[in-house]
Amino acid sequence: MLKLNEVGWLEKEKPLCGPMDALVRPLAVSPCTSDIHTVWEGAIGERTDMILGHEAVGEVVETGNLVKDFKKGDRVIIPAITPDWEKVESQMGFHQHAGGMLNGWKFSNVKDGVFGELFHVNQADGNMALLPPNVSVEDAVMLSDMVPTGFHGADNAHVSYGETVAVIGIGPVGLMAVAGANLRGAARIFAVGSRQICQDVAKLYGATDTVNYKDGDIVRHILDANDKKPVDKVIIAGGNLETFEQALKIVRPAGVISNVNYLGTGDFIRISRIDWGVGMGHIAITGGLMPGGRKNMEYLSNLLKYGKLDVSHLLTHRYKGFDFIETGIFLMKDKPSDLIKPVITI
Ligand code: NDP
Ligand code: ZN
Repeated sequence: MLKLNEVGWLEKEKPLCGPMDALVRPLAVSPCTSDIHTVWEGAIGERTDMILGHEAVGEVVETGNLVKDFKKGDRVIIPAITPDWEKVESQMGFHQHAGGMLNGWKFSNVKDGVFGELFHVNQADGNMALLPPNVSVEDAVMLSDMVPTGFHGADNAHVSYGETVAVIGIGPVGLMAVAGANLRGAARIFAVGSRQICQDVAKLYGATDTVNYKDGDIVRHILDANDKKPVDKVIIAGGNLETFEQALKIVRPAGVISNVNYLGTGDFIRISRIDWGVGMGHIAITGGLMPGGRKNMEYLSNLLKYGKLDVSHLLTHRYKGFDFIETGIFLMKDKPSDLIKPVITI
């Protein structure tokens, strides 16, 4: 990212490797819709001459002298969120915000991201995981961000057996929210999106019903299909500020609206007084940055290693070579109808 609304190539110094850190060479990367919010919406403010990208699998090139569990040559998965684990916020259970709001999100936010020939990982022992030998680098790169973010949506909604869940937005993040809700035992899952390919893949991940928001009011559609009853949980992984008003109309009393969408534009979310039970409806509205760190990467990679989750359905566009990162970024910006997620191997 050269500046707001402009991407291009940059020459930078090799990053410094601190005693607890690692330098990693990317083997596979994927651009994210968040990169698009950052560059073309300025959603987190002004950024100049910053390397983009936060989804990568790579090979360790250098480790600091205090790093215990990784060495040069190891193939590792790096989560998009790499917190400072010693901070009190981490000890309080919200490592995503250790050192300040969203400060666990370092790549392509507060420091250079992973779309470089080398990138820096802080606190390597706490923020990397070994790539299981039977998982491909293309699949594993979906563990950096898409799987943990979608699953975070389902986790924060506390989806449990037999529940009815609506997932609004079924790009790669929402599709992983569908998969997460399904693994947590949801019985019925409404998947809301317009692209046919996303609707088809949502079915593979456990959606029982698909809803096209371009075909009319999703509130009426979902309530009608659900015997006029509200759903237990709503996960928001796309849409806009108005999506919260819709979510409140389809969730039951004491339900949860769990947002993982990065709200790139607009100022305020409206909460309808009546739909929120005049302030007493016990409807929780939550929004979260995906969990970072090594443990989450190790456990989520187990799902791929043991065949419980097949992320390859997300990978619609595959490229080989560093230069194609730019192609991938513009695909994520333009969202052609056959796109779910591009992956670039290097
Ligand atoms: P996509 O753009 O691929 O998917 C967005 C989805 O929302 C699509 O299914 C789209 O439908 C749907 N949608 C768009 N407008 C509406 C609407 N008005 N009503 C209902 N659905 C709508 O995004 P990603 O899946 O890549 O990412 C989703 C969000 O998650 C992004 O904002 C991203 O930045 C954020 N994110 C958040 C993270 C976190 O830690 N919380 C981490 C990673 C990403 P269609 O295109 O079919 O028309
Ligand atoms: Zn991302």
